[in-house]
Amino acid sequence: MNELQRKDLQYIWHPCSQMKDYESFPPIVLERGEGPYLYDIEGRRYLDAVSSWWVNLFGHSNKRINKAIANQVDKLEHAIFANFSHKPAIELAERIVKLTPEGLNKVFFADNGSSAVEVALKLSFQYHQQMGKPKKIRYVAISEAYHGETLAALSVGDIDLYNEIYKPLLLNTFKAAGPNCYRCPYGEDRENCEGSCIEDMERIVSEHHEEITAVIIEPMIQGAAGMKIYPAIYLKKLRQLCNTYDIHLIADEIAVGFGRTGKMFACEHAQISPDIMCLSKGLTAGYMPLSLVLMTDTIYDAFYDDYVSLRAFMHSHSYTGNPIGCAIACESLNIFEDENVIDKNRITSQRIQERIRPLLDHPNVGEFRQLGMVGALELVKDKKTKEGFDWKQRVGYQIYQIALKHGVLLRPLGNVIYFMPPYVVDEKDIDFMVGTAEKAICEYLGR
Ligand SMILES: *Cc1c(COP(=O)(O)O)cnc(C)c1O
Repeated sequence: MNELQRKDLQYIWHPCSQMKDYESFPPIVLERGEGPYLYDIEGRRYLDAVSSWWVNLFGHSNKRINKAIANQVDKLEHAIFANFSHKPAIELAERIVKLTPEGLNKVFFADNGSSAVEVALKLSFQYHQQMGKPKKIRYVAISEAYHGETLAALSVGDIDLYNEIYKPLLLNTFKAAGPNCYRCPYGEDRENCEGSCIEDMERIVSEHHEEITAVIIEPMIQGAAGMKIYPAIYLKKLRQLCNTYDIHLIADEIAVGFGRTGKMFACEHAQISPDIMCLSKGLTAGYMPLSLVLMTDTIYDAFYDDYVSLRAFMHSHSYTGNPIGCAIACESLNIFEDENVIDKNRITSQRIQERIRPLLDHPNVGEFRQLGMVGALELVKDKKTKEGFDWKQRVGYQIYQIALKHGVLLRPLGNVIYFMPPYVVDEKDIDFMVGTAEKAICEYLGR
């Protein structure tokens, strides 16, 4: 352990970690980043195959974005956003409304993903309170959902690792059994799926719609659940269901927005518009915390009144609408336009798929699933029965450590090793990324 690592462990509590692990596996102290690579203080480099927790789009220390920051910081770094505004926020709001699915016409600013989810949940609840539906106080989420880690966000989450201990504090959310395509209980396959798994959602919504204000969902990919990809038909049916019963559909596109799934927004796969949409992570290309909550005019209008009525949304965050974050987001949208990013990513995605093929007959690779720029290998103990490894074995974590030694950052989700690289990876980077994953899997599990 070097001096910086020692000091780090003396003072810092790292996220989503058992700090005792750091005794044998101390933090890697980074110095700089360039393109898809991170460099530590000893000059070793790591390919950032998870986009630093799904945020980075165009590589680290991107020249265009760096310049946009420099330009903005010389003008205005931050200012109060109540009664005041600025060009970067106005430009961003206008462009985002034009880019997102039809009907999402108003933008509320927050400053990270979880707070965007809080805003969405509060908006839906308050809307129904103000519309004379005081009984609508409950949310519906699907199994293994993830929407962030503040208390309300955890309440609509269903991953025990994050939720379990807090359950006595959490809201009473309905949990519907969601899609589980690799182990589909209906025996459907992805290509000819009829979305039968909407059944449990239908049951809950039809029985309890009078109490339900909103359904929240991660469109197309349940990220934290292990990059669980599901067909668009589920979203189509869910949209219908919410319409039938006067329930808001909240699309949490925090992880999947900005091209990750091969479309600018994941809802486009199902050609649906949610009532509320949350955006963060890729919004600032991985540079700064910023989030947006988009909503329909119907929701916005229900809050529009004389001040004395107080049908206002009395919600704020100190760094709401930060101009530097907004300037970055605008430059990121410029890059999407100028560099034809969505089209180019199709080729990158194809390459990852081709490169992964030799690994598919490995006895512990249960499935490789992919949508756009997200690919995931689900490792199993038994390929035939699809029985997974015991989580206490920490198979993914062991493979992660081996891959790091070989220079690739592949931080897993349980027994799922996934690829979600910045969009700037080239052919060599992909070979290195997938080749190292293969090497690490075979080194740990044999071949
Ligand atoms: C990361 C994430 C969040 C939470 O965002 P934070 O900025 O980490 O609070 C919420 N929903 C989804 C789908 C996410 O992936």
